[in-house]
Amino acid sequence: MTPLAGLLPDGIASALGLAPAFRGRQVFRWIHRGIESFAGMSDLPAALRSSLDSRADILTSRVDSRSESEDGSVKLRIRLHDGAAIEAMSLQDGRGRRTACLSTQAGCGMGCAFCRTGLMGLVRDLAAHEIVEELLHLRRETGDVGTIVFMGMGEPLLNPGPVAAAVGVFAHSDGPGMSLRRTTISTCGIVEGIRRLAEEGPAVRLAVSLVSAVPGTRAALMPVSRANPLPALREALGFYQERTRRRVTLEVVLIDGVTDRAEDAEALVEWAASLGVMVNLIPWNPVTEIAFRESPPQRVRWFKERLEAARVPVTERLRKGRGVNGACGQLAVIEG
Ligand code: SF4
Repeated sequence: MTPLAGLLPDGIASALGLAPAFRGRQVFRWIHRGIESFAGMSDLPAALRSSLDSRADILTSRVDSRSESEDGSVKLRIRLHDGAAIEAMSLQDGRGRRTACLSTQAGCGMGCAFCRTGLMGLVRDLAAHEIVEELLHLRRETGDVGTIVFMGMGEPLLNPGPVAAAVGVFAHSDGPGMSLRRTTISTCGIVEGIRRLAEEGPAVRLAVSLVSAVPGTRAALMPVSRANPLPALREALGFYQERTRRRVTLEVVLIDGVTDRAEDAEALVEWAASLGVMVNLIPWNPVTEIAFRESPPQRVRWFKERLEAARVPVTERLRKGRGVNGACGQLAVIEG
């Protein structure tokens, strides 16, 4: 069976040997309108509809469970064809606008000390159709989304082909039509991947989990920094901004006494100011398996004011999805 969700119209036509080729566009449009059976594709000839049933899959995954938090955020646990499980979130802001937070791998091999997904280890990369299917499930469950962030389970820049293919599908005007400016790839700091993204695209926004600009602190929290040290990361981000003319966002997870100290703030000011980037402060979300504490609100305020005083553009991400363990760093499928 050919999985179709990760293909563009031409790809569908050629994978299924459809003639005339516009049949590929028809199938593509139906898939992204949320039709989940070929029988519902009413502008296809009946004989083609029934032959597609035995040759292709619109969805290869299914929703195992759905949980909703008080703030309207929804977390889906999605079961893949081989039994692996991932999670995807639809986060809702105060005006009801939704952001899809998508996984790019089942589990994650990067081992960040503050992240629940890191406890799982890497199970496997997702295929393009599995990433696209996350959005199809989320749209069916929660309605349309206005932005997409690759910030769920996994490191997107270590699965670049399927991520780029999914971005292409999301951006297609006959599909979700998602602007690249409303699509963000979030990385833990893979230098080679950042350079490749700058050179080859896709031209999405880039966010980097910096967490701390103090080398020893970052190294202790993020094993990725051994092979991708801060000076190399800074150089890659400078290259990215120069090449793409797009401003990078640094994500800083604030952990009580670990990343919210005065020395973290000073190092971050120096780092952010020299690169001309945005900073997004993310209060750490408690998870039972990890013995950190979240920064107290007054410390978050102090940290933010320190950056503002240095004229570093800074935002604070609101706590979303907490009630369902769906906030940043909380996604994980830990099965007994
Ligand atoms: S923060 Fe991101 S890169 Fe680090 S372990 Fe978690 S999912 Fe992986």
